[in-house]
Amino acid sequence: MDKKELSDTGREVTRAERILAVALALFLLIGGMRLAWTINSAFPLPDYSSLRSQFIPEALEREMNNLWQQNNNKLSALQRLQDEERELRQEYETAREEYRTLLDRGIDDKQKMARWEKARDEHRNSQAALSGTQAALRDFQNNILSPRESAFREAEARFHERFAQLNSQRNRRAGVALITYALAVFALAIWVSGLFRTRPLLSRYAVIGTSFLGFGAVQTLVVTYQVAYPFLRGLIPVEWVVSLGGSGLSIAGIVFLKNRLLSAEAVRNRRLWKKSCPLCGFPLPGNFCGRCGAVQQEKCCACGLLTSRFLPWCRECGSRLADCSEHS
Ligand SMILES: [Zn+2]
Ligand SMILES: [Zn+2]
Repeated sequence: MDKKELSDTGREVTRAERILAVALALFLLIGGMRLAWTINSAFPLPDYSSLRSQFIPEALEREMNNLWQQNNNKLSALQRLQDEERELRQEYETAREEYRTLLDRGIDDKQKMARWEKARDEHRNSQAALSGTQAALRDFQNNILSPRESAFREAEARFHERFAQLNSQRNRRAGVALITYALAVFALAIWVSGLFRTRPLLSRYAVIGTSFLGFGAVQTLVVTYQVAYPFLRGLIPVEWVVSLGGSGLSIAGIVFLKNRLLSAEAVRNRRLWKKSCPLCGFPLPGNFCGRCGAVQQEKCCACGLLTSRFLPWCRECGSRLADCSEHS
């Protein structure tokens, strides 16, 4: 009888217990996700630099750096020559203009003419140097840099392809391990929650079992999402599917819980609790309900006193009313 009283009080879940049950599920989730993270890091990512050196030999890399450096040096030398050529051309044009202006006024200034000629020669020399340098740079770029560069780019593309391949292989393996882990934990959680519901000693703590169940379900969802996300990202709008699918599932869950709470037995118990007729909800029935006429009390076969016929145990002597109908 003591046991029965205990389990009856245990069935009432207070708000504090519910909050603690949610907290328990969260704490379980933290540990579970930490474990999932450990499993995930047991699958190492491919070593970027060692794989790169397999596909792109160090000598090639050094050679390319050297060639790019040379190219940059040649480009800045060319830039300097271009600036110089522009300056010399301006100088030459100014000198020519000065000489011609004087010549138009009838003055043939020999000194101005010598300056013009000198500037003209200097400009010509700089033009020659510039086009020589340009030709040399084109030659260097077309015959030395480009062929080496395309060989390098090809090796680099092969490396990137292999790296992506190894990476997705690694992700697949880790994903399988993670989902296996999550499903195993979920199965374990279902088993544990079953224990809490069915074992008499544990049943008053059934809410703990519900925490395990919630933890297992949420962890499976999170892990599946994490694993599936990189594969699905390109194929479907993952966030929309998760948002709409998750909302749908949550609403279905709420409707399910609401209906379970509205089940005939739950409604009857709540009415009893509020001291109203369990069948129609009308308050404070006597021996009969004043509204629906339902019989509320019956005689206990053990003590002969009146007790509620909707409750399993006699209020007066504590006998099981079900035993009465068995005896009769
Ligand atoms: Zn009634
Ligand atoms: Zn009795």
